[in-house]
Amino acid sequence: MGRQELVEALRQRLEGHSDIELLHAPDERARLSRDYFDYSPVLSEQLRDCQADLVVRPLGVEAVERVVSAAAELGLPLTVRGAGSGNYGQCVPLQGGVVMLTSALRAIRRLDPATGVVTVEPGCPMRDLDQELRRHGRELRLLPSTWRSATIGGFIAGGSGGIGSIRWGFLRDPGHLLGLEVLAMAQSPQRIWLDQRDAEPLNHAYGTNGIITALQLATAPAVRWHQLSIDCQHWDQAVALLQRCSQSAITLHLATLVEDQLLSLLPTWSGPCSHRHRLLLLVAPDGVGSLQRLAEDAGAICHDLGPEDLTAGHSLRELSWNHTTLHARAKDASWTYLQMLLPQPELPAMQALRERWSGCLLWHLEVVRQQGAPRIAALPLVRWHGNEQLNALMQDCRELGAVVFNPHVLTVEDGGLGVIDADQVAAKRRFDPNGLLNPGKLRGWIERT
Ligand SMILES: Cc1cc2nc3c(=O)[nH]c(=O)nc-3n(C[C@H](O)[C@H](O)[C@H](O)COP(=O)(O)OP(=O)(O)OC[C@H]3O[C@@H](n4cnc5c(N)ncnc54)[C@H](O)[C@@H]3O)c2cc1C
Repeated sequence: MGRQELVEALRQRLEGHSDIELLHAPDERARLSRDYFDYSPVLSEQLRDCQADLVVRPLGVEAVERVVSAAAELGLPLTVRGAGSGNYGQCVPLQGGVVMLTSALRAIRRLDPATGVVTVEPGCPMRDLDQELRRHGRELRLLPSTWRSATIGGFIAGGSGGIGSIRWGFLRDPGHLLGLEVLAMAQSPQRIWLDQRDAEPLNHAYGTNGIITALQLATAPAVRWHQLSIDCQHWDQAVALLQRCSQSAITLHLATLVEDQLLSLLPTWSGPCSHRHRLLLLVAPDGVGSLQRLAEDAGAICHDLGPEDLTAGHSLRELSWNHTTLHARAKDASWTYLQMLLPQPELPAMQALRERWSGCLLWHLEVVRQQGAPRIAALPLVRWHGNEQLNALMQDCRELGAVVFNPHVLTVEDGGLGVIDADQVAAKRRFDPNGLLNPGKLRGWIERT
């Protein structure tokens, strides 16, 4: 059978099941085959024409099993989609086939009151999950700046870290993901519970090596985070203050620094426009006075923005991580971006890059915990002047000692450290032996021969 006949056969098999919604209108298929890959002019070019043949929305886990069974039998590619907020085309179906939405799988199955460990279905919006945790005195440890729309399954399978990374590091650090329920891409799929060791290869694998139907996570005691922004006249002073804050005994949830020109591209809810470099901080209430003191010692100006209101449309969270890029691009779409861990000491490397790439780079820094120690990650805006220039810039960053996480590539490995993870490939062999899950995104599978 040709592709269209196979898709038609799948549609007929799934039609009539009241717990499966089918979406085949061309505009819906187009919309649900995209994410935020247009941050990257490189990916925009590559992914422009990728489209699902059919979009399905199962209303429960049994319905997921039926979809998986039918697609596996017909040999159709299947790509799972949460909220579709990834920015490297993670849920774009490179080879068409079926896109399966998880938006109806949103139950919080269990919250252990003694440990705070939560077991939840993958389509649960992170905002809802965090709200429910807060009702029990807990909160999510790590959140992307898209936390109001992103799903928890999409974050585990496609994200890496974000708000909270200053204390909790990254999603793949042991201790965050404690277990997974997974379905194999098979004609008779069975739900299998994986402990934290076996779950690890599915963490940040873009849904290429198993369909997650529930996940178990550690959480943190809830804090009513307080928002401060601090303006510094000189860049060196701002970076030094960022470091001083993150090396103190103050409990922080977020420490972002944006340079003055980038600040002028952002919405103004972090304080009045100052034409200075600005730190954006989420701090525990008992640390507010200490941060104010550090700002004063550094000759900087502190704005007290009050406690976070998580029910409002925006907070400092929505000026951090990739939201900074989002806002800047909304003003001027000729900006794209990079992601890297800066070498230490950071200032000379940033200065060298600033000199070489004057007018093409705007700095945006985030403090993260890397192997137990505070480090500075950078998500600079980059003026797009073509592929060659982008590659030359990344080469310069690497030569200066930065670890670049290239956001202009499609595979799990190339967006990370570039290394094939044999455990991820082994998990794919176990849960997707015919290579139907999100094909084209796991280089280790493509190159396995
Ligand atoms: C403005 C902006 C800011 C962002 N900030 C951050 C940030 O701070 N940190 C960060 O890590 N990311 C960030 N991202 C990327 C993205 O928003 C997050 O990673 C988000 O958590 C993805 O969730 P989602 O529900 O949208 O997942 P999707 O984009 O729908 O999916 C992501 C990946 O997970 C897979 N997947 C989804 N559900 C399942 C499942 N049940 N089983 C198996 N695979 C599955 C998909 O196939 C896909 O490969 C940002 C993106 C934008 C546009």
